[in-house]
Amino acid sequence: MNDKTDEKPDEHDLAINLAAPRSTRRQFLKGLTTGTVAIGALAQSGCAPAIPPLKTRGATNTTTVCPFCGVGCGQVVSTRAGKVIHIEGDPDHPISEGTLCSKGAAGIQVVNNSRRLQKVLYRKPNGAAWEEKSWDWALERIAARIKETRDKTFKTTIDGRVVNRTEAIACLGGSALDNEEAYLLVKLMRAIGLVYVEHQARL
Ligand code: SF4
Repeated sequence: MNDKTDEKPDEHDLAINLAAPRSTRRQFLKGLTTGTVAIGALAQSGCAPAIPPLKTRGATNTTTVCPFCGVGCGQVVSTRAGKVIHIEGDPDHPISEGTLCSKGAAGIQVVNNSRRLQKVLYRKPNGAAWEEKSWDWALERIAARIKETRDKTFKTTIDGRVVNRTEAIACLGGSALDNEEAYLLVKLMRAIGLVYVEHQARL
């Protein structure tokens, strides 16, 4: 077996090593200074490296959990003047350690999206057109319809067993609900006797 560490350098190798420039500490520092001056000159001439300012500088950072699926990755939400300006993975989160899948990484689009519906649209039974309504109108109507349906269909017992439920109403949660909203929603639905409670977030 040929062990190269035991070989003696030949004359060619020695010539190359002797010819190689060896900088002193002083020359190294001098080079650094020259480089800094060169970058400064480039900056003054408008050719500085393109380093954009950090967009989250001065923002308030709040940790939360990605609402899209049951993995529950951690996110940091940056806000400024009451507006969400950035969402990224939370490096301190024990499950995801700063990583997010494409859905979580695009989470800011749930908040800032020109295509997101901002107003209540109502289409009356057998109607063909959508009408814009106020939230007060919609919430009053939803509450009245839930009460009416629950009152008509509520069962206290079935086959002698206490059930206290209605099977005429169902609740479907959505991915844009965060953990706390989903918790409150289920609490409310169970309190009024729903058994059909589902959520469309994937896992
Ligand atoms: S949707 Fe993606 S980022 Fe969000 S919790 Fe699930 S895996 Fe994590």
